[in-house]
Amino acid sequence: MRTCVACRTERPKRDLVRIVRAPDGTVALDPSGRAAGRGAYLCSDPTCWPAALKKSTIERALAAPLPADLRSRLEQGSPLVLGGANGS
Ligand SMILES: [Zn+2]
Repeated sequence: MRTCVACRTERPKRDLVRIVRAPDGTVALDPSGRAAGRGAYLCSDPTCWPAALKKSTIERALAAPLPADLRSRLEQGSPLVLGGANGS
């Protein structure tokens, strides 16, 4: 189980989206869930995200700023590139 940084709900890893800060400082979605670096988990349910964005919860969890493109994708709740989400 992992905890969503936004709502603090514990969920199985497959019900969460991982955002990772790579060793080089790049912050990105991690659809594989296995990228190296410091990770923060969010519910895969987009209704969870606006509050996290408003309170900079993700930035704090990662100790890094969210890139503008990733932030806007999360704000829009647009479908994430979730590897294996379909047909699993
Ligand atoms: Zn959540």
